[in-house]
Amino acid sequence: MIQNENEIDVVVKQAEAGFQFLQQCNVIERAKLMHAIADEIEAIDSMLIETAHLETALPVSRLEGEKSRTVNQWRMYANAVHTGLYSEARIDQSPDGKIDLRKYNKGLGPVVVFGASNFPFAFSTAGGDTASAIGAGCSVIVKAHPAHVKTSQLMADAIHRGISKYGASADIFSHVVSNSFEIGQQLVKHRLVKAVAFTGSFAGGKALFDLGQSRPDPIPVFAEMGSINPVFVLPDYLTDNGEAFAKQYIGSLTLGVGQFCTNPGVLIGLEGEKLDTLKADLKREIQAVATGKMLHQGILDHYNQLRGEMIGCNGVNILAEGTDNVQEGFAQAMLVETDAAQVLHNPELLEEVFGPFGLVISCADRHEMKILMEHLVGQITLTFAASDDDMWKYQDLFTIAQNKCGRLLFQGMPTGVEVKHAMQHGGPFPATTDSRFTSVGPDAIKRFLRPISFQNWPDEFLPKELQDGNPLQIERLVNQHWTKE
Ligand code: NAP
Repeated sequence: MIQNENEIDVVVKQAEAGFQFLQQCNVIERAKLMHAIADEIEAIDSMLIETAHLETALPVSRLEGEKSRTVNQWRMYANAVHTGLYSEARIDQSPDGKIDLRKYNKGLGPVVVFGASNFPFAFSTAGGDTASAIGAGCSVIVKAHPAHVKTSQLMADAIHRGISKYGASADIFSHVVSNSFEIGQQLVKHRLVKAVAFTGSFAGGKALFDLGQSRPDPIPVFAEMGSINPVFVLPDYLTDNGEAFAKQYIGSLTLGVGQFCTNPGVLIGLEGEKLDTLKADLKREIQAVATGKMLHQGILDHYNQLRGEMIGCNGVNILAEGTDNVQEGFAQAMLVETDAAQVLHNPELLEEVFGPFGLVISCADRHEMKILMEHLVGQITLTFAASDDDMWKYQDLFTIAQNKCGRLLFQGMPTGVEVKHAMQHGGPFPATTDSRFTSVGPDAIKRFLRPISFQNWPDEFLPKELQDGNPLQIERLVNQHWTKE
């Protein structure tokens, strides 16, 4: 347990030494190190799942899946690093031989990662933020999430075993446990820390972002915060698909007791008979949803408080609730309804209620639907449940939607985030603090890189990624041509 500023100083100075070590490692060496870490995470026995299950109440099957995903993340990011994709090496030589410019991307420096509560593996100690920072050549200090400290420690031990087996410096990774905001804040303020990654609440992410900006030398704070992930259900689609859609929507809304940042918390449709029928279907579906245990008491209290505030708002009516056998720590699902006029009058209705809570908004006509779309703030995802016919008729909505989210879905549901090169898990503020980056998929590595050019630098002193002979055999843009030559 870290308790004061002196102890933080020691940890950050170690991370700085770890960064110096990683600066000497080229992309192939870093990729091998990442695979060594993946091997150790993969090898942790069932104690990891049991511990995480006890600490988070997440089902064993979900945790097993999340562990595999976490291992795959390390391997996929390692493979991407190995290709040199993120080095973005460029070489430009003037015809007269006087100017030789060579540019590539290098790590920013020590990165502080705040573990998330809702993904104890994939977005925590050994999660995508840690893997992408190490892939970029940055050392990492993880601030463990207090809701699963033992799980976090098991992961940290595995990372250290991987580092040791590969033969890297132990300083490249540190694990900090504390029970106060202050320790996290002091880490963000430390002059040797060069970037921060965070997944959690808007209040937490924004506070840490502001702290990063208020330093004498501001640093990037990549915070992934709340999102209501609106689903627009269009009229022609509802003609034949209402019942199946209701099942799919409620399934996604209540998956994992609604504790996903991609949870589709708001459903928007055009008032009329089709929407009324859909509401009846949604009501039937949610009434069958059993109560579920939430990650920790703080999240449950927050859920109950926000839910209470929502149903206390003018013009908001309860459509239906899930089963009511509420036990200690358990949350009851709920679906409420209102109309667009109320929402436009009270934008607080569009705030995230983290948990199995959905708001159905009816719009008087397509003009009001468009105005509502224009009022939306940045989202991680936006979904259209639409037919081909709807797609032709509502093109103006799709154009606006592209400026509102990081991932736009045609049908389907936003929960279930694929770890792929083409994934964008982010979105305009307040979904994240920087819409240019993703926190899922190998492109997450880009957050922790910065370009540097070398002008007329002697070949043997250049990073291997830029040397004449291309010893790492990576793809480079040489005098405007892609080549490995
Ligand atoms: P959180 O409260 O944002 O905390 C996440 C981490 O950030 C914790 O380690 C916490 O420190 C730290 N932190 C938060 N505020 C801070 C501040 N002002 N200064 C320094 N450190 C700070 O998230 P949570 O505990 O996971 O859940 C709380 C709420 O966040 C939920 O009820 C939900 O609304 C939301 N949430 C959203 C997402 C999402 O993906 N959008 C995911 C999870 C949670 P401590 O260790 O000291 O607590």
